Amino acid sequence: MSSTGLLLSTLCKGLLDGPDGAMANRPYWWDAAPPQADLFDLPRQIDVAVVGSGFTGLSAALALLRRGRSVAVFDRGVPGFGASTRNGGQVGSGNQKFRVRSLIEMRGEAKAVALLREGVAMLDHIEQLVAGEGIDCHFSRCGRFRGAMRPEHYDSMARDLDDLRRHVGVESIVVPRAEQHREIASDLFHGGTVLPHDAAVHPGLYHAGLLRRVREAGGVILGLTPVDSSAAQGAGFSVRTPRGEVMARDVIVATNGYTQNMHSHLDQRIVPVGSAVIATEPLAPGLIQQLMPGRRMYGNTNRVFSYFRAAPDQDRIVWGGRVGRGFAPDSPFAFAHLARDLRRTFPQLGDVRITHGWSGQIGYTFDSLPHLGKTPDGIHYAMGYCGTGVSRSTWFGHKIALKLLGDAEGATAFDDIAFPTHPFHALAPSMVPAYEAWYRMRDALDF
Ligand SMILES: Cc1cc2nc3c(=O)[nH]c(=O)nc-3n(C[C@H](O)[C@H](O)[C@H](O)COP(=O)(O)OP(=O)(O)OC[C@H]3O[C@@H](n4cnc5c(N)ncnc54)[C@H](O)[C@@H]3O)c2cc1C
Repeated sequence: MSSTGLLLSTLCKGLLDGPDGAMANRPYWWDAAPPQADLFDLPRQIDVAVVGSGFTGLSAALALLRRGRSVAVFDRGVPGFGASTRNGGQVGSGNQKFRVRSLIEMRGEAKAVALLREGVAMLDHIEQLVAGEGIDCHFSRCGRFRGAMRPEHYDSMARDLDDLRRHVGVESIVVPRAEQHREIASDLFHGGTVLPHDAAVHPGLYHAGLLRRVREAGGVILGLTPVDSSAAQGAGFSVRTPRGEVMARDVIVATNGYTQNMHSHLDQRIVPVGSAVIATEPLAPGLIQQLMPGRRMYGNTNRVFSYFRAAPDQDRIVWGGRVGRGFAPDSPFAFAHLARDLRRTFPQLGDVRITHGWSGQIGYTFDSLPHLGKTPDGIHYAMGYCGTGVSRSTWFGHKIALKLLGDAEGATAFDDIAFPTHPFHALAPSMVPAYEAWYRMRDALDF
């Protein structure tokens, strides 16, 4: 550890110690579903090479295997190393990324409504997939509460949800401040809203379940096998890894926030942004029920927002957010920053201990929309979920597989939206801390 790291650990000690005095620097979800490397031999030839073993890659692989294609899934790390086993497990439609009116201004009413409808379909799809595949992962349509950080936020959220109901038929509940304790035992918010159909999942178990189904269907999972490049060769592609070369008729890149140095077209369009999460020790019996009576998913309205929930399998709180100020998202400072926000929201927690802290990479895009399609050299991709990726990645993985097969069911409302880059794309990752600081200042001063 660097001397700065050591100093920060010492300063943050006490805020972060686990029961045995040490905070585990790994996702809480890995306790129930520890990722494991498969050491399969490389196949020489397959129909489809999928790069990335998160929800996108596995969902694509499963759809292809079920339709008779041979598939190998490559991952640079252990299978599920990326965001899919590190996220908050909040399952939304992605429809809150833009105000409905802004989306209509940007894309026109017909397109905006089609995109919003597809968000609703993604939620239904993941629910059906989990049920259909029999994946035991605590999936539940528990709803999501979003707390207003300012009175104006409450009004504008209520207007937006009214627009969502009128245009897409999504029902929601507006909760005035005087009644918010029925949703959450915190006085931090100026009321809030509930989307009752949003859902929750244990991401580790969901990922492990998908992985199991892919293996059972004959998929070859190649952990610890980074794809360095893939180049057109004959009627397909040569997929190059340090362990050797595989010939594939088609390639799907599903690397989202971990996209780096494999394909320049995608490198130029994805901005990786770190995000951190902590989990508390198990709380005293009854405390979760008191703090979060509906055991929903929760978040706030800040631009640099926090998301939190009760773990589905134990009475712990899982709290995530961005940390900014140039600190690495897996630094002790980052975890202490999240712990401070948690205690500010729930002072009842007192000196609750933090037992797990971890981080992951979100894949942002320059238009804040996810994208799927084909690169100019014929590589399929699906990525750019901008932090709302549990349902979107599952859906996009499925759709890109159908597109590859030429199945008309692969069509989506996102098809004709160009995947933008930016002349200064290479600088974007280093600009993220400055952007975050700017948004944090706007959150604090409300402008
Ligand atoms: C901390 C955090 C919290 C989040 N919380 C939520 C949430 O609560 N709700 C929500 O909807 N979304 C959330 N998200 C977003 C969501 O987790 C992601 O959008 C989703 O998991 C993306 O899945 P994926 O399969 O596309 O990518 P990932 O799961 O990130 O998988 C990409 C994989 O590609 C591999 N890879 C990269 N390059 C190569 C290469 N060259 N060769 C081989 N393998 C390679 C990586 O090792 C990685 O395993 C969160 C994300 C993070 C980081």
